[in-house]
Amino acid sequence: MITPAYVIDEKLLTRNLEILAEVQRSTGAKILLAQKCFSAFYFYPLIKKYLAGTAASGLYEARLAAEYFGGENHVYAPAYKAEEISELARICDHVIFNSFAQVEKFARHVKSAGLRINPEHSTQKVAIYDPCAENSRLGVRVDEFKSARRDLLEKLDGLHFHTLCEQNSDALEETVDAVEKNFGAYLHQMKWLNLGGGHHITRKDYDVERLKKIIRRLQKTYGVEIYLEPGEAVALDAGFLVARVLEIQPARNGVQNAILDASAACHMPDILEMPYRSEIVGAEKVGALKFNYRFGGATCLAGDVIGEYSFSQPLHEGDEIIFRDMAIYTMVKNNTFNGAKLPAIYAKKLSGELELIKNFGYEDFRSRLS
Ligand SMILES: *Cc1c(COP(=O)(O)O)cnc(C)c1O
Repeated sequence: MITPAYVIDEKLLTRNLEILAEVQRSTGAKILLAQKCFSAFYFYPLIKKYLAGTAASGLYEARLAAEYFGGENHVYAPAYKAEEISELARICDHVIFNSFAQVEKFARHVKSAGLRINPEHSTQKVAIYDPCAENSRLGVRVDEFKSARRDLLEKLDGLHFHTLCEQNSDALEETVDAVEKNFGAYLHQMKWLNLGGGHHITRKDYDVERLKKIIRRLQKTYGVEIYLEPGEAVALDAGFLVARVLEIQPARNGVQNAILDASAACHMPDILEMPYRSEIVGAEKVGALKFNYRFGGATCLAGDVIGEYSFSQPLHEGDEIIFRDMAIYTMVKNNTFNGAKLPAIYAKKLSGELELIKNFGYEDFRSRLS
């Protein structure tokens, strides 16, 4: 097989989709794929069998959804450009704005206008993932809402909030309390409420029953249609990144570096940005097994370090290393820093067969430069 390569496993993807479809069926809420997390449009026909539509972060994602998904098409962005709005208005069912100024500028053009609110209730501590942090530019706060012009409020069909990141339904519950306290009066006038993403619904310990209860209560209290737009939950643990060992260096201060043809900086940037540790099939934490390695990419960046792992057998040049949970926030974020090759993309079909759906080469590197 070509390496590096992302392998998306349709069986694992389907397992997630079935969980999400069951939430839709039993509550009547609609679930959208947040494309910014996973935009592998080869799988859109499969995903469409289960989910109501897609959420986009701007024109290009919305266009991708219109071309390849064909379900409900929703978009939110912190600000839109005047030259984008007519196409967005044509292809999107909901256009969600981030300020009353944007509502005033553009809402008259769109089919259904929404506004992102800021519940000012943080449920996690990582500042870069906290839209409720002090001075955040994301979402309108209740004080602005209270002084908003009536004619602008009347343009709104729905409200949207997105404050969670990889969280369980207890965090949603707290957030909904904050939303109701501040925005409950306005919710009665709305047709829909979008609960954003960050719901880790397909994770083993996720409390789905509590999620359903929250949804049902909101539907009943306010008479609104409920939307969720998870990204991670759709493709959580449904993909792998397969890399190959290029060289194993002699130990330095007792640490043995192994260089891979995959890079944290280029191919799994969240390892450095988030940061998090990616698990490897057949490996354990450093020190747990006999043979220990520190994996790094073949780039110039000293910090292009993927992590330290231990194995029961020594590794050799040419061995394949398989990283788990590599479908989400990888393909959409990768880059060609150092002229690195972008990983090929394979689909592992329900039949178990491996299909190469995309390979990249020098031309892909060159075409983004001039
Ligand atoms: C990132 C984002 C999502 C998806 O979040 P996940 O953590 O991948 O579930 C949904 N909606 C908005 C507005 C987002 O910014």
